[in-house]
Amino acid sequence: MLYIGCHLSSSAGYMAMGKTALSIGANTFQFFTRNPRGGAAKEIDPADAAAFCAMQQSEQIGKIVAHASYTINPCSKDENTLRFARRMMADDLRRLELTPGNYYNFHPGSHVGQGTERGIELITETLNEILFPAQQTTVLLETMAGKGSEVGSRFEELRAILDGVKLQEKMGVCLDSCHVFDGGYDIVAHLDDVLSEFDRVIGLDRLCAIHLNDSKNPLGSHKDRHEKIGLGMIGETALAALICHPKLRGRPVILETPNELPGYTDEIIRLRKYYAQTETE
Ligand code: FE
Ligand code: FE
Ligand code: ZN
Repeated sequence: MLYIGCHLSSSAGYMAMGKTALSIGANTFQFFTRNPRGGAAKEIDPADAAAFCAMQQSEQIGKIVAHASYTINPCSKDENTLRFARRMMADDLRRLELTPGNYYNFHPGSHVGQGTERGIELITETLNEILFPAQQTTVLLETMAGKGSEVGSRFEELRAILDGVKLQEKMGVCLDSCHVFDGGYDIVAHLDDVLSEFDRVIGLDRLCAIHLNDSKNPLGSHKDRHEKIGLGMIGETALAALICHPKLRGRPVILETPNELPGYTDEIIRLRKYYAQTETE
């Protein structure tokens, strides 16, 4: 079964997102837990969350992905910025307990001159501070493009973060196709090798979700500019091969392409066709 969907606006709540997803042929989706600028989050309506959990079951919606605000920096050098990030993330995790069993994805952050090693230390500390034994959400580190001083563009860096986390069973990784390509992993010409390396360094059992984006820029460019499926430097064939790969089947696939709903609908239809073909082969 292919679980595929796109990033949706969370302003109208869980049920509204669920309905929108179904209306565009999606069976998963992603949303920001709060205003992407990092501000206050609306309190979740428990009735809306409960109704969505029932809908997730009855409509066979796969695991959904809550995305942390990308402006927080969980490895900031500045004490206040760091404390703010940790408070936001802890609060997100608390609220996500209303929709148990799903994913919370975040960007490891930027070390801004402190060096990758120190960045990794701070991210690990952040996770050890916010994860709690009873939580039912799996927290995902996103593979990054390596723009500026971003941590997490090498599989080894994600491995090092995971190694320092005490509640490791609460952790996973989300592979972003645009980011890994920008990070220098050639998923166009050498997909099998990239997946083998991921498996060797991190373990494919940790790979929980996929962000499917084409890239405006060539391999290794460290730019992080998403493009519509088929219009970028990765291309539709390579992106279809990624989601149809026997080692990756079953993971929720989230489109973060520059689209409105009609564009997403179209991409979902096209990608489902590729998947159906490989299923019957
Ligand atoms: Fe992201
Ligand atoms: Fe992403
Ligand atoms: Zn990106």
